[in-house]
Amino acid sequence: MEKMMMDKNEARLEVARKEMVTHQLVARGISDQCILRAMATIPRHLFVPERIRDAAYQDCPLPIGYDATISQPYIVAYMSELLKLSKNDRVFELGTGSGYQAAVLAFCTKEVISVERVPELVPVALGNLAAVGTTNVRVLEGDATTLAADYAPYDAAILTAASPALPEYLYPYMNDGGRIVVPVGDMYVQELFLITVLQGKGRVEGKGGVRFVPVIGKHGFAEGG
Ligand code: SAH
Repeated sequence: MEKMMMDKNEARLEVARKEMVTHQLVARGISDQCILRAMATIPRHLFVPERIRDAAYQDCPLPIGYDATISQPYIVAYMSELLKLSKNDRVFELGTGSGYQAAVLAFCTKEVISVERVPELVPVALGNLAAVGTTNVRVLEGDATTLAADYAPYDAAILTAASPALPEYLYPYMNDGGRIVVPVGDMYVQELFLITVLQGKGRVEGKGGVRFVPVIGKHGFAEGG
């Protein structure tokens, strides 16, 4: 009986996931086939706290504890698509959080190096990634604004927290032509930027307004605002 109920619930969540891809992603112009496949395949509900699992496929961000949020599905897809990923890419992520964004990136690349500053979130993310069978994400604990050198160079980088300025400190660790997606602004509203690093210089394009929790660290905001 219990097993049957679980299967029914899983089936319902799978339907919700496919609908999320159709109505929230494809309908709004996401067209990268690998990102769409990743988000149709990866069970996002396993990345949110159990009590809000039923909300995992809704069109909104969700709290995951420690002031962190798992981004709205559309934002995950949009930022991932901007990175123009290919199978052999290595990607750097600031802000592992639940590990969901890292799992989506890992689905379409060779390796993801993801850094999280909140120690308690690291085992949570590792557990989530293991639960969905993702094996090509390396999670590091610490301030990502100081740790990019360790596994450089990268083809792409993503900051899933708001930066007070363009992350020029990452440019030396990017391969030529590398892409960085980052929200830049104050603690409350930001603009998303796509930066292409060419011969050590950044070509910057604005990609719309967003709202993220702040980067806290050396090249971020001070702890406690
Ligand atoms: N990508 C995550 C969402 C992250 S929310 C997901 O898919 O679930 C933003 C995260 O960035 C938070 O967990 C926060 O703790 C982390 N963060 C903030 N500043 C950081 C820094 N300097 N280094 C690493 N992680 C940081």
